[in-house]
Amino acid sequence: MYSYLNENIKSVQEKIKSVCAKTGRSIDTVTILGVTKTYETDVMNAAIEYGITDIAENKVQEILRKYEDVNRGVNWHLIGHLQSNKVKYIIDKVELIHSVDSLKLAVEIDKRAGQIHKIQDVLIQINIQDEASKFGIQPSELEVLLKAMAPLTHIRICGLMYIAPIVEKPELLRDDFKFMKKMFDDLNNAPYPNVRPLHLSMGMSSDYEIAIEEGATMIRVGTKIFGKRTYPAK
Ligand SMILES: *Cc1c(COP(=O)(O)O)cnc(C)c1O
Repeated sequence: MYSYLNENIKSVQEKIKSVCAKTGRSIDTVTILGVTKTYETDVMNAAIEYGITDIAENKVQEILRKYEDVNRGVNWHLIGHLQSNKVKYIIDKVELIHSVDSLKLAVEIDKRAGQIHKIQDVLIQINIQDEASKFGIQPSELEVLLKAMAPLTHIRICGLMYIAPIVEKPELLRDDFKFMKKMFDDLNNAPYPNVRPLHLSMGMSSDYEIAIEEGATMIRVGTKIFGKRTYPAK
């Protein structure tokens, strides 16, 4: 019934393989996150059977609704905007929060993680062009945020996340991806004990190959695996 998922996943894996061969990277330096928003748990479980190890949702509500019905052992990622008052619902469920964009949110994550004796891995979301439609901090704000987060011992800052604008030619995004890679590499010089640059989350269905060429370690793929999304009527 879900064999199309198998084909789609294989096709993304093949593309990753060829990009990695071209750029001299090892394929295990790239993790595919299956972006499952709007898709139900039967589809998610099938994708997991076909090899998806990491799933990503952009809404807290959707994680909570689906959590119990999804196969154990998969890693959950939150990739959408997170309000501080919702941290408590997901702190025990998510492997990585990609969307930290304020000190207030970071402090709340640190507090809730501390309560359950967890060190929560997070990424800082960067909004290069300061697009009003997107969350995230501007590149010039990173330094100050990292410094302010330094005392937070229940948070590990594992890298950066970037959501590229929708463009006709994904090639136009290459400079942004290069810019992100440079920022990511610079994290190695951050003098804070809770910074450990492991993940650069960038690239979606339309641009993941270029993102990998420029250094992405996590790509967030929805449409190219699951098909077009239909959003429920409001
Ligand atoms: C929906 C979403 C994706 C996946 O988008 P596709 O174009 O369907 O691959 C990736 N990242 C974020 C933050 C998203 O909300």
